[in-house]
Amino acid sequence: MRVSSIKSNQFSEKTYNADRVGWLAGEVMRHKRLYYSGKPEIADIDYDRLEDELRNFAPNHPVLSAVGAINIESGNAKVTHDPAMLSLDKTYDVKDLQKWATGHEVMGTLKVDGTSMSLIYKNSRFTLAKTRGNGREGEDVTAKLKWVSDAIPELNGTGDFEVRGELYCGESSFVKLADEMESLGLERPSSPRNIVAGILGRKVHGELARYFNFFAFDVIGLNGFKTEMEKTHWLAERGFRMPEPRLLKTSTDIEQYLAHVRQLIEEDEVGCDGAVFSYNDLSLHEEMGVTAHHPRFKISFKWQGETARSKIARIDWATSRLGIVTPVAVIEPVELSGATITNITLHNAAHVRGYNLKPGDFIELVRSGEVIPKFLSVVTATPGRADLPETCPSCGSTLVADDVRIKCLNHTACPAQQSGAILNWIKAVSIDDLSDKRLQSMMDMKLVSTIPDLYTLSVDDLLTLPSTKEKMAQKLFENIQRTKSAPMAMFLNGLGIEGAGQTTWEKLLEVFPTLERLRAAAKDDIAAVDGFAERSAGQIVDGLKRSGHLIDKLLGVGVTPVLPDTHSDGPRPLDGMIFVITGALSRPRKEVEDSIKRAGGRLGSSVSKTTSVLVTNETDSTSSKMVKAKSLGVEIWSEETLMGRMI
Ligand SMILES: [Zn+2]
Repeated sequence: MRVSSIKSNQFSEKTYNADRVGWLAGEVMRHKRLYYSGKPEIADIDYDRLEDELRNFAPNHPVLSAVGAINIESGNAKVTHDPAMLSLDKTYDVKDLQKWATGHEVMGTLKVDGTSMSLIYKNSRFTLAKTRGNGREGEDVTAKLKWVSDAIPELNGTGDFEVRGELYCGESSFVKLADEMESLGLERPSSPRNIVAGILGRKVHGELARYFNFFAFDVIGLNGFKTEMEKTHWLAERGFRMPEPRLLKTSTDIEQYLAHVRQLIEEDEVGCDGAVFSYNDLSLHEEMGVTAHHPRFKISFKWQGETARSKIARIDWATSRLGIVTPVAVIEPVELSGATITNITLHNAAHVRGYNLKPGDFIELVRSGEVIPKFLSVVTATPGRADLPETCPSCGSTLVADDVRIKCLNHTACPAQQSGAILNWIKAVSIDDLSDKRLQSMMDMKLVSTIPDLYTLSVDDLLTLPSTKEKMAQKLFENIQRTKSAPMAMFLNGLGIEGAGQTTWEKLLEVFPTLERLRAAAKDDIAAVDGFAERSAGQIVDGLKRSGHLIDKLLGVGVTPVLPDTHSDGPRPLDGMIFVITGALSRPRKEVEDSIKRAGGRLGSSVSKTTSVLVTNETDSTSSKMVKAKSLGVEIWSEETLMGRMI
C-alpha cells in the first residue's frame, strides 16, 4: 500500500513537472512580450519568480534566453556583445549578501530599474548603442540614443572603449512623455518602468527617447584600472551620470548603504529597486571569472516585495500647510505584508494625471522591506480621464499648477493651511495633549485661528472645549505656557519655513547666534555658511521675511525663545574648529556629529578653505572631498583620531 502510493506520487510529480514547465515557459514568454510592448500585467518580482522556477526545472529552456527574438517588429538591426552582457546573480537576503562580501572591499551602486545598454566609443566618439538583448546579441538603437543627453557624444582624448549602463525614465519625465505620446495619437504608457523598452522597440518616434536618462556603471576596453572605484571616478570625471557608487569595507557599511538606498526608493524619483555590489579589486574579477549565466564578482540585492491588488474607491485631495493639494487613494481594504491597507498616497497631481488614475481602477500595490506601501501600477483601468480638482478642497480658491503639484495660494485665510501651520507649531515646540482633534474644536469654536492665539487662551477658554474637565484644562494651559520658552531652534522650526528643519536652524544659530542677527542676515551671508546652497539660502531669507509679522506677534504674546547654551565652563577641545565627515563611520553619523558639537566643534557639509578637519575612515580614498581636502591642506582624521581628540 505504502509502496504503491509512493510510486504514484513519483509518477504524478513527473507529470506535474512536465505540465508545469510547459505552463511556465508559456507564461514567461507571454509576460516578456507584454513587458516589451510597455504593458506588463505583473510586477517584476512576480515575473522573476516565474523565471526562477522555470530555470530550476529546466535551466537551458530556450525561452529563458529568448529576448532578442521577441522584438522582431522593431526593425532594429542585431548586434553582438563582446564580452557578453551577463545578467547578475541576485539575492533577497542581507545575510547572504554579507557572507558573499566577507573579507572583501566592495563597491555598492543603485540598482536602476531600466534597460541595460552598451555605448561604443571609437576615438572617444559615441558611435553605436546596443540593447542588452539576450546578453550575447542585442539591437542597434544608436539613432534613438542620440536623443539622450546623458549619452555624451564626444569625450576628450582618443581611445576605443565601451560604456555600459542603464537607460531609465524618471517619474517626472514619465508624465511629460505620457502626455506627448497621447498628443501624437499613441497609446498612453502605463508605467515608467517599462516605457524605455517600449520606445526602443518602436520603429518611429525615436525623439521620445529624449525623456530618458542614462546611468553609467562600467567602462570596458581601457587598461590601467585597478579598482571599480577608479573606473567610476573616470566615468564621473567625464560627465557620466553615476548610480551613487560607494566603497564599502564592513558589513555595517553595507547595512548603512542599504538603508540609504531604501530611503531613495521611498522618495521614488530615480526608478531604483535595490542595489548592486561588486568586489572593488579588479584582479579578483579576473581570478573568479564568470559562470554561464552571471559573473561571480558581482551580485544584485533586492527587497522581497509583496504585492496586492485592490480597487480605488475614491481619490481624496487635501491641502497641506504650504498649500500643496495632495491626492490619497481610498481603496477597498486589502492585506499586504500583515497589515490592512485602506488608503495609499498618490504623491502629487502629476502622478494622478500621468497614470490616469480614477475611481474604479484596479491597481497593484507593493511593499518591500520596511518601505511604506506604494502604488505600483494600474492592472485594469476604467474608461475616462483622471479628474483633478480646480479649486481648493478647504477654501475654494482657484488652484494653480506648480511643476508636478497643484497649489492653493490663499496662504493667510485657507483653513487647511492655517490648521496645518498650527499643527506644525504644536509638533515643533512639542505641546503635549493638544491633539489634532482638540485643535479642530478650538478652530471650530473660533478660540484659535493663528499660532499666537494659543498663548492667549485662559483655563476658562479651555474648559469650554468638548470633554475637557478642570484637570485637563489646567494641564493643557500649563503645557501651552511652558512652550513660551522653547529653545530657539524649535521656535524657528515651528514657523514652518519651507526647506528648513530643526537641524538647519541649529546650524545657522551657530553662525548667527541671536534672532536679531538671523533676521538681519542677507542671502549671501547665509549662502556663505558651509552646507547652504544659494537656493536654500534664498528660501530661508524669504521665509523669515514672510514670517516677520508672525514672529513679532509671538514675541508680543510673551513667547521668548531660549538661545543655545553659551558654554561658560571654559574652553572645549574642538572650539573654533569646523569638521566635514565623509564615508561610513562605526557609529550612526548623527551620534558622531552630536559629540563634535558637544566638544565645541562645528559641522560643514562640503570641504572649503574654512574647513579645519575632514573626518573619514577611508583614508586612502580618492573621493572628491578627499582630493579637495588634500589640495587645501585640510587635516584628515580617522574616526579614532577624532575620538581621541575629544577627551
Ligand atoms: Zn485653500
